[in-house]
Amino acid sequence: MSTIEEIVFVGASVLSAHFRGKSFPASELPGVLARGIGQSPSNLYLGAFGPMQTTTFGTRGEVFLVPDPSSRVCLASEGEAPEHFYIGDFRDAGGAPWAYCPRDALRRALADLEHAVGWRLLCTFEQEFLYDGVPSHPWRPYQLDALRPVRGFAAEVLARLRDAGVRPDGFLAEYGPQQFEITTAPAVGVRAADEAVIVREVLRAVAHRHGHSVSLTPIPTPDGIGNGTHIHFSFLDVDGRPAMHDPDGTFGLCGAAESFAAGVLEHLPALCALTTPSVVSYYRLRPNRWAPVYADIGEQDRGSALRVAPTAGPRPEDRARQYNLEFRVADATANPYLALTGMVRAGLDGIARGLRLAGGPPRLLPRSLPEALDVLERIPDPWLGAPLRGGYVQFKRAEIAGLEGLDEIDICRRYAEVY
Ligand code: GLU
Ligand code: MG
Repeated sequence: MSTIEEIVFVGASVLSAHFRGKSFPASELPGVLARGIGQSPSNLYLGAFGPMQTTTFGTRGEVFLVPDPSSRVCLASEGEAPEHFYIGDFRDAGGAPWAYCPRDALRRALADLEHAVGWRLLCTFEQEFLYDGVPSHPWRPYQLDALRPVRGFAAEVLARLRDAGVRPDGFLAEYGPQQFEITTAPAVGVRAADEAVIVREVLRAVAHRHGHSVSLTPIPTPDGIGNGTHIHFSFLDVDGRPAMHDPDGTFGLCGAAESFAAGVLEHLPALCALTTPSVVSYYRLRPNRWAPVYADIGEQDRGSALRVAPTAGPRPEDRARQYNLEFRVADATANPYLALTGMVRAGLDGIARGLRLAGGPPRLLPRSLPEALDVLERIPDPWLGAPLRGGYVQFKRAEIAGLEGLDEIDICRRYAEVY
């Protein structure tokens, strides 16, 4: 006789970037690993605030969320049944990837990158968040004293991440009230986006155990402090050696990496629709917030869209390994798979056209989500595949329509409740 029966969850980051899926008794896991768990295609369209605001599928159809064994997370905590979850891929009944699967869109983009230049993406998401287990007053930016009340929470987050195969390399009290930041070692390919999801869920799970909650909302009030999700990335060649850095290149980039960066900057207005994809995202992208307002690149400049991250140490080979770009026009309302897909597609276009980093005054970023969506809709290469791009734009327009009539304070409040 067993006293408890464990539950396993399999989910995916859907269009709203929430981690949604279904759960079942652990005894059913072998079957679910083999065949997946059925759900309505419309579940991909569940809205940021809960209700489904639009869908291309209505009540029809079935897709299968198939857990990826490599994504297994087991959160053990004393005196409680462990929490198990997996990240899944959407497949059709025959096991083929579903055209709307965000994880598969990224897989395709990464395969094209490897095919074009022989590179693999090495990447990590640096996530800022709010934790309500500490007082919001007084404000203690970067202080040891701000860290003291969260020591238990932080220690547990780090341990649970390590159990999940994610290597934490930073946890700090950030600038804003109740604001913290967590960083993890870079991972290769799709795993980098998986880890962004795992970090978010581990933060939420551990906060819940402590009787508190976290919010990764881009900005909690219109005049508040922004929470960025900065994407650090570089490339590895087929032998696993760093492939982005050339000490003599522009900003230290090798030729193809310069073209990649130029492609990202050229396509930034469209990319914003994927990386800063909510109405509040654009309240964060305003002057004097240490968040970008121009499509620019800067050496060690935290105000730029692409920051050339610093390297240190006497040995050139160590510096080449540390060398990376930080993409700062992102927040946690972005689906990490779609954000990386867009970034890679924009960069690949830069490489295909041999773009160089232009001098001259940088362009302003879009000032709102509708502006960014208009650009995403117009670019000739759909990046995500035509069905997914169409569905995504429709989904985001419905999100905007649902907020009509609310002022900025209410809009911030609504996002802070659900992200
Ligand atoms: N909180 C800022 C943002 O919204 C970033 C601050 C930093 O550079 O850590 O992106
Ligand atoms: Mg920070």
